[in-house]
Amino acid sequence: APVVRFAPSPTGFLHIGGARTALFNWLYAKARGGRFLLRIEDTDRARNSPEAVAAILDGLKWLELDWEGDPVSQYSRAERHREVAHALLEAGGAYRCYLTQDELAQMRAEAEAEKRPFQVRSPWRDKPASDAPQDKPFAIRLKAPREGETTIADHVQGDVTYSNKELDDLIILRSDGSPTYNLAVVVDDHDMGVTHVVRGVDHLTNAARQTQIYQLMGWDVPEWAHVPLIHGPDGAKLSKRHGALGVEAYRAMGYLPAALRNYLVRLGWSHGDDEIISTDQMISWFDLDGIGKSPARFDFAKLEALNGHYIRSTDDAELVARTEAILPEIERGRDIPTSLDDLGRARLVASMPGLKERAKTLVELINSASYLFAQRPLNLQEKAEKLLDTDTRAMLGRLLPRFESLSGWEAADLETEVRTFSEQENLKLGKVAQPLRAALTGSTVSPPVFDVMAVLGREEALARLRDQVA
Ligand code: GLU
Repeated sequence: APVVRFAPSPTGFLHIGGARTALFNWLYAKARGGRFLLRIEDTDRARNSPEAVAAILDGLKWLELDWEGDPVSQYSRAERHREVAHALLEAGGAYRCYLTQDELAQMRAEAEAEKRPFQVRSPWRDKPASDAPQDKPFAIRLKAPREGETTIADHVQGDVTYSNKELDDLIILRSDGSPTYNLAVVVDDHDMGVTHVVRGVDHLTNAARQTQIYQLMGWDVPEWAHVPLIHGPDGAKLSKRHGALGVEAYRAMGYLPAALRNYLVRLGWSHGDDEIISTDQMISWFDLDGIGKSPARFDFAKLEALNGHYIRSTDDAELVARTEAILPEIERGRDIPTSLDDLGRARLVASMPGLKERAKTLVELINSASYLFAQRPLNLQEKAEKLLDTDTRAMLGRLLPRFESLSGWEAADLETEVRTFSEQENLKLGKVAQPLRAALTGSTVSPPVFDVMAVLGREEALARLRDQVA
């Protein structure tokens, strides 16, 4: 069974491209009874912080991509990386390089002057050990093959071949004893037993260098799948405005994790023309070879439409629980509290059937229910205020006692009463229902008004009406 991993660098959030990489890895493991591991590439000490790591773990948890065991810290494995660098040195796969910064700068300048690409050709590669200076700092460089080719047999990109002449001798251990990125990745992937590396195509050249390290160590090279990047709707690099955000931003915009998973899996992978793919279906259908080679384009409208679908098919109580969980972080309408009391929660659950038909996000969902949380007397919106002129308020005043003497308070009871009243008053139903809505919600748009009354309950609805007829 495959072993895969997600290996984010903690930059402060789990960005959308990383989330998709994590999802692909997770799916591959799930689909084949394999293992999905997590490694935090935290060797850049300046950028690393516990908060940045927590943001990534939170993002993965919210997306419900569960990994196995504790996350591996790359930084904490530096001793092991040094050990492997020295083992390579002993085995002749690497050498001590005493080139100084000045010498390197000079080599670079010469290459520039001659307009050829800069490549390090260290004279120390072929010098006998006896020539080595005593007590001078050195880096350990890979003794990369000069002849032949290195081919990446990639599940997405196909065979990608690099001429070894193009790949110079990579430093694997710096003179200060710190391992370099490519060494750390290879050693960690090997030690973690990773069989398939699925990551962004921006790492393709690294794969060639990493292959050389594997080969010099005599280790099995993993299978590769380098996934195209996500572009904006215009085909250019994904910008913030077009979706280059952290997963927590999607959470705060009111997307459901199942909808985001569905959206992300379709960004670059497809199963026929299927748009709506449940997580179970993804797991049974997902395959690395189904990942497309061209960059996917991020499309907010599609994501919204999918989210609306998932909202409609999610249980009312769960929708409310998920909405409650994000209340403190969302853009809330005027009356929306940061937490719900039992009454508020019960009213919100009761109004879900009407609300969820239209909402594309949880934020829309709760904001369209803001009337539930408004304090009496309601602050009327301008259109509602206009509608409730003196005559109209008087009409509601004639309707009020009929509600007061009603025995039932179901939407159907209320509707029957209002219909009868309108007929007697010789008014169209809307001429009564619309002012009623204005008085009860402070707005001229709301879910069906009889549902609104039922959800508010007899006492609150009557009180709001009395406020406006008085
Ligand atoms: N840490 C790298 C990144 O965040 C991933 C490296 C890899 O997957 O090998 O881009």
